[in-house]
Amino acid sequence: MALEHLGWREDFATSFEPFHTQGLQAGRVVIQHRDLYHLLTADGEVEGIVPGRFRHTPSSPADFPAVGDWVAFGSTEYDGPVSIQAVLPRRSKFSRLAAGTTPYEQVIATNVDTVFIVSGLDDNHKLRRIERYATQVWQSGAIPVVLLNKVDLCPDPESVLCEAQLALPGVDVLTVSGERGDGIDGLTRYLAPGQTVALVGSSGVGKSTLINFVLGHQQMATHDVRDGDSRGRHTTTHRELIQAPGGAMLIDTQGMREFALWTEH
Ligand code: GDP
Repeated sequence: MALEHLGWREDFATSFEPFHTQGLQAGRVVIQHRDLYHLLTADGEVEGIVPGRFRHTPSSPADFPAVGDWVAFGSTEYDGPVSIQAVLPRRSKFSRLAAGTTPYEQVIATNVDTVFIVSGLDDNHKLRRIERYATQVWQSGAIPVVLLNKVDLCPDPESVLCEAQLALPGVDVLTVSGERGDGIDGLTRYLAPGQTVALVGSSGVGKSTLINFVLGHQQMATHDVRDGDSRGRHTTTHRELIQAPGGAMLIDTQGMREFALWTEH
């Protein structure tokens, strides 16, 4: 598969040039399991590790590969995981402050182009919260797009849309129904091949429903579990960077789901 379909851009190609000269290849992190990374490459998926040499360079945890990252890797002689040599500069980055003896920056997702900020047009709808999300998304380097979901439950979507547009100058706001499909065509331009998107929003606003709609099949179970109970959400076959049939890359990580929690403080 051409790297462009995985989100490869000219700026990545430029930063990759010196590694290409060294005979390294490029891959994109789709999930991390402890020290093992799964990478999508031009030749399919491979497993990769970060060698000790990388670890011992004076770097912070934020310098290690995260979901969405493009990395330069070299093959190993034996049939084991490839060796990740470098993380290419990120176009956008979502982090949070992780608790520890000394709090540190934990990177949640990178190289996201568009973030759909999902809000439910039922009693979940809070404009102030959407504005906070939008600020965070701009700061990450990605572009926020607001999806006012569950339009089917709203008696007066026009006025809610107007109010949101006024409060969020420069941000696209769309009314949609992930369940019925209303307004979903409007998402097409953000979901072009090679575009990377992520969804954020409080629990219950309809993120999983929208993801399923975009993916066209039941990629994830829409959650009918208690708030804060994430059991069963992520299995080993799960990928956190998923290719949608239309060509876009979707990032769905536990961290992005919890974006709500750390934005609302
Ligand atoms: P998430 O927690 O943000 O991932 O939310 P879910 O996708 O699990 O949806 C939460 C609930 O809202 C589920 O019961 C969905 O069926 C419902 N829901 C999602 N989208 C819509 C919609 O467009 N209209 C209506 N009426 N219900 C929806």
